[in-house]
Order: sequence, then structure tokens, then C-alpha cells
Amino acid sequence: MKTVTAWIALGANLGDPVAMLGEAFDALADLPDTRLAARSSLYRTAPIDAPGQPDYYNAVASLETALSADTLLDALQDIETRCGRVRAYRNAPRTLDLDLLLYGDEQRESERLTLPHPRMHLRAFVLAPLVELAPALTIPGRGAIGPLLAACADQNIEKLPRS
Ligand code: ATP
Ligand code: MG
Ligand code: MG
Repeated sequence: MKTVTAWIALGANLGDPVAMLGEAFDALADLPDTRLAARSSLYRTAPIDAPGQPDYYNAVASLETALSADTLLDALQDIETRCGRVRAYRNAPRTLDLDLLLYGDEQRESERLTLPHPRMHLRAFVLAPLVELAPALTIPGRGAIGPLLAACADQNIEKLPRS
């Protein structure tokens, strides 16, 4: 079976974000035709200039998958819907965000799916867990992740110990 390495960003900031990210990793491991190859530590980011708002928790995962990029995005959105909403009322706050960061070295641009994820190279909460798992990784069109993370040094992020 021909597989591609895909990188997923996980984020949560409502309810019990640590439990939510654990559930999300389990759901990624259960995807068809896909192996969860690696999972990063969790990282915590305090919201800037928004006292009282809950902290954000983030992580990344790498998958070896035979799913197409479009099918994988569908599956990620399905997981968001299944475990991401506290209650099914209108505009319910989303407790889980799953973004497709990289799908091999594919580059494409559309409203539904842009690859690489168009803002990933600007975010310490994405780059720090990526550097943890794949320090030599390069983002197509953006460059090596080490210098990109160094450029985010003003973003305050805390790596949590693995439990
Ligand atoms: P951001 O993209 O800045 O992290 P967000 O994750 O909060 O913001 P969402 O509401 O989760 O934004 O997604 C908005 C739309 O982005 C989705 O409907 C999805 O189709 C589209 N999208 C485009 N490219 C991607 C990608 N690489 N990964 C996930 N969603 C994407
Ligand atoms: Mg996002
Ligand atoms: Mg998203």
C-alpha cells in the first residue's frame, strides 16, 4: 500500500483540553488505512491580551496514510464534529481543532484545502512540536522549520511534561 506522511495540528482550549487531545490522538490512530506514526508532547499557550480566557493546548501528530488529502481532511472534520463540540447548540464553541499541516510535499491552494497549511510557519504552537518530532523538516515553499521557529521567539509557549 502506497502511503504518504501527513502532519496534523491538534488544538483545544475549552472543557478539558488535555483529555480532548488524548481522545483526538486515539481517533487519529483509528483512522482507516492510516498509522499514527508519532505524537508530540502537549504545549500550552496563554492567550495574549485576553486575561480570563482559557489557555490553548496544542500538539502535532504524524500519520502514514493511504488516504487522499481530501479524504483525510473529511475524516479530520468528522473527528472534530464527533468529539469537538460540547453541546449541539447553534454556534457551540469548538473544543477541538484538527488542521492538516502537510501532506507529503504537496502544494495546493483552495478555500477548502490549502497545503501546506497557510499559517503554520508563523505559529510557535505548531513549529515547536514539529521541531520536537522532526527537527530537519522543511515546509515546502517556506523553508526549514528551525529558523521559522526561531523567528517566533516572541510567542510564549510552554512544553508540558509527558504523562
Ligand atoms: P486556522 O486555519 O487559522 O488555524 P481554524 O483552524 O480555526 O483557523 P477552521 O474553522 O478549523 O479554522 O477551518 C476553516 C476552513 O479551513 C475549513 O472549512 C477547511 O475547509 C479550511 N482549510 C483550508 N486548508 C486547510 C488545512 N490545511 N487544514 C484544515 N482546514 C483547512
Ligand atoms: Mg487551526
Ligand atoms: Mg481548523
